[in-house]
Amino acid sequence: MNNSPITTSIFDLFKVGPGPSSSHTIGPMKAAFDFLQRIRQLPESIRQEANAIQVHLYGSLSATGKGHGTDRAVVAGLLGWQPESTDPVALLALLKDPTTSYPVQIGEKTVALKPEHIHFERKKYDSPFANTVVFELTSGGKPVFSEEYYSIGGGFIVRKGEETAEPSSANLPYPYQTMKELKNQLTVHALTLEQLMLANEMALTGRPAKEINQRIDLIMDFMHKAVRRGLRHTGTLPGSIKLRRKAPVLYQQARGLVQSSDSFLIFLNAYCLAASEENAAGGIVVTAPTSGASGVIPGLTYLARHHFHYDKATLRKGMWAAAAVGFLVKHNASISGAEMGCMGEIGTASAMGAAFLTYCAGKPIEAVEAAAEIGIEHHLGMTCDPIGGYVQIPCIERNAMGAVKAYNAFLLATAGTPANQKISLDAVIKVMKATGRDMSTKYKETSEAGLALSATEC
Ligand code: SF4
Repeated sequence: MNNSPITTSIFDLFKVGPGPSSSHTIGPMKAAFDFLQRIRQLPESIRQEANAIQVHLYGSLSATGKGHGTDRAVVAGLLGWQPESTDPVALLALLKDPTTSYPVQIGEKTVALKPEHIHFERKKYDSPFANTVVFELTSGGKPVFSEEYYSIGGGFIVRKGEETAEPSSANLPYPYQTMKELKNQLTVHALTLEQLMLANEMALTGRPAKEINQRIDLIMDFMHKAVRRGLRHTGTLPGSIKLRRKAPVLYQQARGLVQSSDSFLIFLNAYCLAASEENAAGGIVVTAPTSGASGVIPGLTYLARHHFHYDKATLRKGMWAAAAVGFLVKHNASISGAEMGCMGEIGTASAMGAAFLTYCAGKPIEAVEAAAEIGIEHHLGMTCDPIGGYVQIPCIERNAMGAVKAYNAFLLATAGTPANQKISLDAVIKVMKATGRDMSTKYKETSEAGLALSATEC
């Protein structure tokens, strides 16, 4: 366990960027962009000598990077594109022509980046993280400068040598590492959860409260735009599976069944599938906490806004509760499918969604904790085995299932006395970490087992 207080910003957890994968698309794009900035700072003599860039992808980035668009993402980052402002259509067009060479500007000159310079390495690589990418600036095929990065899930990256570097927690007014400590801070300082989270965010980012609130609203707007696009878009998703989009069908079905008790569930399914299908198509989504799981919270917040008619302030409160749960899992286990299997992605998203619903409903922190605990408990051991390496099967439906479980976790946690819940959130996160450690790597975003083997010709 990391022994310093949590220093993650809500805007690092909820990030806007292109699908389909935060660890395989957004993370590598950010790493490539960082490498670009570093090679631009190199001494003139090294830049003059260099004539190409080579990229080596290891672990799960190699195993499922093709289906996740990792090659396009590193090209985009090396061209200076950033996830939040990337045009998804332009991103999808990269590498379409295998003969294209991309000129990477480093100062006055350019160096070549060709499709054959991106290597999906099958050999085992000694690395502390499952998703590793090495960039080399080369001269005559020999490296003159290189950097190694780890994509640790949710679009977060770490550069080799900075594995333990964390933003300073010195100015945090209410530090915590666990739910137990968080609840203690709330009691000692007589704060609401949103007051505490906002104060910490202001200290971490230096932003005023008004700007933070506006950005949370903006993040929800991005989520809901993805839902609305997905409800409109029809046809087949990219890739060899030829999976047809289903969200518009469900939406129409729900609208025709408003008197039926099924309609509520069908609407929720439609919203979650809509955002997930947009993610699979490489559209702009919000990591929540990852791109693979970017349908759960958008689906639930869309439902809360349009069916429960919660106002913006209530939705923001719920987002803080969801963020608190995401922070705790990221800090004490992992939100990466390559480290934890799908329980790290959909399991975490479902727990965050359960916390969102519970806090929006005005329930106390004990109920929020119980809901999040139930959300994780019933995803323990869930493997990650996407067919063909595409974030489609089981990922898209899994988002809808994660949201439905979140809703039921909210119902279960708010019935009776939350204090009677036997398992704490901290305890289940520990179990999640241990389960992830014991899980075979075949089930951690490599597409080497499970569903990925059972249905090769969908
Ligand atoms: S199975 Fe789960 S963890 Fe794996 S890629 Fe799909 S959503 Fe992500």
